[in-house]
Amino acid sequence: MEISASNDSCAYGQPGIFRGHLRFDNPRLADYSWPLCEIRGRKPGPRLCVSAGVHVNEVSSIEAAVRLQRMIDPETIRGSVSIIPLINQPAFYKYTELVCPIDGRNINFTFPGNSDGTFSEALCDSIMNEWCVGADCYVDMHGGDLRENVSKFSIFQRTHNVELDAMGRRMAMCFDAEIVMGLPAAHMEKSGRAPTGFARHNRLALMSEAGANGLLDEGSISFHLEGVLNIARTLGIIDAPLAPFLNARIPCDEYLWLDCPVDGEFHAEAEPGDRVTKGQRLGTIRNLFGETLAEVTAPETGFLLWRMTHPTIPKGSPIGAVAVEETSGRQQR
Ligand SMILES: [Zn+2]
Repeated sequence: MEISASNDSCAYGQPGIFRGHLRFDNPRLADYSWPLCEIRGRKPGPRLCVSAGVHVNEVSSIEAAVRLQRMIDPETIRGSVSIIPLINQPAFYKYTELVCPIDGRNINFTFPGNSDGTFSEALCDSIMNEWCVGADCYVDMHGGDLRENVSKFSIFQRTHNVELDAMGRRMAMCFDAEIVMGLPAAHMEKSGRAPTGFARHNRLALMSEAGANGLLDEGSISFHLEGVLNIARTLGIIDAPLAPFLNARIPCDEYLWLDCPVDGEFHAEAEPGDRVTKGQRLGTIRNLFGETLAEVTAPETGFLLWRMTHPTIPKGSPIGAVAVEETSGRQQR
């Protein structure tokens, strides 16, 4: 990594608040630099890395990454908190939905990446192996691209490593979430989200999701912020009790995508966070004459995690997702 400081910054690696830019060593990433804020205490301690803007329209999470920079006092913390508020630099000012415009890949499903691969693969590899080297935990904040609304949830990756699982669950519970999603261990068989890619190397990463439609929303911003601060408190970086929890934080262990069965207009009958039962109608697909073409039903009993808000959806594209509560489904099957 090559790091350059802004004028008002302390020197990188010294106690205080660093502000500047980083360039990754991988030559595939040479045309871009990333804004970096790193808050370092005088006492040694854990390292927490936090990012947003893998999806550049998920603005509540990006704003949380900006505000976080002003909420941690280097005089009182142990260790360091390192923040990159916008990962998908090639999409910045392009408002690209979901993917990186250079290679058309969704960075969010590209971890752990590949140093010899495409731009997104190289970026995921550099996030893991340059920026997050030595990090005790990485948190990637998301939530609601331009046509989506998501419930408040957090994600960790289940593995066959009992200690890592316990740590992932504990950190995911730091968010005042409606749903705490532990992704099935089978997800580790292929590239995936940061929690999945990190877990493949026995490392810890989390995701938080809250927000909608490219709107700044105070409730979503504070969900991300308080969750990350609670993680810093749990790790021992910040010496303070956890902020209180108001939501149910229901543990779920299956993430089921709902694909649109036919080209048309989706009219939803359930909202993110709603409890849904197997077979319940979640909405209908209609054509431009108002005729119903198909119904969308819940594949299992659980919770609607998120849904598309723009009604126009082509066949095969995702409409939303259902989270299945731990123990409820699997033990009966
Ligand atoms: Zn996202």
